[in-house]
Amino acid sequence: MLWRYRWSLLAAAMLLGLPPLIVLLVRHDSVHLASFETGYTDPVGNPQILELLNGERLVPPPALPPEVFVIAEAERQQLDRVAAELVPDKIVSADRRWDAIDPAFQQRVLVIYALMKQRGYDMALVEGYRSPARQAELAAAGKATRAKAGQSCHQYGLAVDSAILKDGKLQWNMNDDWVREGYFLYGELAEQAGLSWGGNWRSIKDYVHVEAKTACRDARRRAGHG
Ligand SMILES: [Zn+2]
Repeated sequence: MLWRYRWSLLAAAMLLGLPPLIVLLVRHDSVHLASFETGYTDPVGNPQILELLNGERLVPPPALPPEVFVIAEAERQQLDRVAAELVPDKIVSADRRWDAIDPAFQQRVLVIYALMKQRGYDMALVEGYRSPARQAELAAAGKATRAKAGQSCHQYGLAVDSAILKDGKLQWNMNDDWVREGYFLYGELAEQAGLSWGGNWRSIKDYVHVEAKTACRDARRRAGHG
C-alpha cells in the first residue's frame, strides 16, 4: 500500500531534512567563533581574519627595548599637534603586557598585526591595560585622558594603542603618506575584525586606538560605570 507513495514519501523526507542540514553547514563558522568569544562582534568581510582567528593561537611579539619609548617621549615636543596627541601620556611607564589584556581581544589585535606585517608594516603595542593607579596618576599630572575614570576600555583590558614601527622608531607623522596609509589600514583591519578604531571617532581622531566596543560596554556596566 505504502509502496504506491514511495516517491512522495521520499520527496517529503528530503524536503524536511534539507533545511536543518543547510543551517548546520552555514552556521558552522560563526558557532565555532561565538563559542569562545561571548560579547564580541563577529569579524566581517575579510576571510583571512576568520581563518587566522580559527587557527592556532597567535603568540605575542617580544617586548621592545625601553629606549624606543624613551625616545618617543623625548621627541614628542618636536611633533605637530595631531602627531603629539597620538603619543600616549607617560608612554615610558605605560603597561605593555600582552597577558594583561583580554585573551580574545589580544588574539584579534595579533591577527591585525599579522596582516599589517604582510603589507610591510611592523606594529608595536604602546599601551594596553591601564590600572586605576595609572589613571589617577595621569589625572593628578593634569594630563587630559580621553576618558573619565572607569570609562576607558584600557581599564578593562579591552583597548590597545599601537604604533607603526620603522627602523626601530615609532611613527606618528600623519602627514607622511606611508604612515597615514598604515594607520588607515590598521583601522580598516580592526573594523573587519569586529573591533572599533579610534580614527573613526568624531571628536579627537585617535588613530592608534583600537577597542572591543561591545565587550567593553558590558564590562563598564558590570563595574557600575555604564
Ligand atoms: Zn587608547
